[in-house]
Amino acid sequence: MKYYDKLVFELSKEGRVGYSLPVNRFPAAPEIPAALRREASLDLPEVSEPDVVRHYTNLSQMNFGVDTGFYPLGSCTMKYNPKINEEVAALPGFAGLHPLEHAGLTKGALKVYQEMEKALAAITGMYAFTFDPCAGAHGELTGLMIMRQYHMMRGDLARTKVIVPDSAHGTNPASAAVCGLEVVEVKSLENGRVDVEALKPLLDGTVAGMMMTNPNTLGLFETQIKEIAELVHGVGGLMYYDGANMNPLMGVVRPGDMGFDIMHLNLHKTFSTPHGGGGPGSGPVGVAEHLVDCLPDIRVSGFHGNFGVILRAYAYILMLGKQNLKKVGQYSVLSANYIKECLKDAYKLPIEGVCKHEFVFDGLVNDGAHDDVHGATTLDVAKRLLDFGFHAPTIYFPLLFHQALMIEPTETESKETIDAFIDVMHKIAAEAAEDPRILQEAPHNAPIKRPDETTAARNPILKFKDTL
Ligand SMILES: *Cc1c(COP(=O)(O)O)cnc(C)c1O
Repeated sequence: MKYYDKLVFELSKEGRVGYSLPVNRFPAAPEIPAALRREASLDLPEVSEPDVVRHYTNLSQMNFGVDTGFYPLGSCTMKYNPKINEEVAALPGFAGLHPLEHAGLTKGALKVYQEMEKALAAITGMYAFTFDPCAGAHGELTGLMIMRQYHMMRGDLARTKVIVPDSAHGTNPASAAVCGLEVVEVKSLENGRVDVEALKPLLDGTVAGMMMTNPNTLGLFETQIKEIAELVHGVGGLMYYDGANMNPLMGVVRPGDMGFDIMHLNLHKTFSTPHGGGGPGSGPVGVAEHLVDCLPDIRVSGFHGNFGVILRAYAYILMLGKQNLKKVGQYSVLSANYIKECLKDAYKLPIEGVCKHEFVFDGLVNDGAHDDVHGATTLDVAKRLLDFGFHAPTIYFPLLFHQALMIEPTETESKETIDAFIDVMHKIAAEAAEDPRILQEAPHNAPIKRPDETTAARNPILKFKDTL
């Protein structure tokens, strides 16, 4: 164990200080009532400034981030986040703005919201946006509430069902259930697209709408989207677009033109903001013109959403401009297809053909490992990748394949980085065939080996004293 692997509490030495506060120039605060005062002093670590700096720097290096290395986590769009976004979001006029500030003094911020609404409307083909939702799933819930409101305003109370494809992101059925709507699943075809023939019998006057993501969770474009939208509209339902994966479509195709009525975007994916581990996020919801009156008139979050994330997305859109936003999609699609074609000799590709920004393998091709406890599994491949300094792809999602390995390289990686990843993936496949134990015992070089993830989630030990 290295010296600085110690907890900051273990480095503590009584009486050591790493700071000196200026003399208090302000009058004494009114006496705090004795009943509210602490009896014993707080048990805080007492360390020097270098110890504090090393503590936090070392902690930060025990994790993996987009600034540390390649992060091909499918469905999450872990692209590089340009640092100029951070500078813009940190401008004192923005960062120091109080959410209850008088409207007359917040014109700059309001202008940002207005300009963003215009930009997103142009990119998506929607008419108006609310910026309140703080995540994709939060946007879904807001969008479904808009859907329900639309039917209620028309006195159409029988519409309680939402159709969701079996390939959908898990948040889709969850959001529909939280909104009090009944989820009806529609199956996919062998080619990964929604089965239109299976959809038809589900359509009647009880359908509030259908939720889709396009390209879908397998990274495949739903080529029959226009027909699907016409069928759903034909029975009076609305089309909801999960736009978390808008990355490959920007400047090429617009959900509004595909027949969608309501949608959310994940600004923290498509429009770059460091995210992961639960935030921060922004999931603005857009609606077509006929739904403007159903936008929330009470807020669905404190104040106006995550303004810092909206600013980053605004800086990103302005920096790229119309021409280069289109290239984001083109390069991300090129990168994904390049990796897919280079690796399909070693990893099983269940659905052939051109993908969009991501694709799904179904485990290793030929080590006898498929669903075989003695061979190397997708989990083993993912763990082994960490030894080579790459973040693992998304694994065991989507649920359509047992050994799913979902790769999304994004547009911001160089060909050299992508080639290095392909080399390592080939190397891992060769190891799996020769000696699967190398994979099964991985990671060999990470700070933590293989935690029991179920126990870690159910009974987390969060206090250092409990670990002693
Ligand atoms: C990420 C994602 C979501 C959920 O977004 P959060 O911001 O994590 O709530 C929903 N749908 C799809 C397709 C996604 O990729």
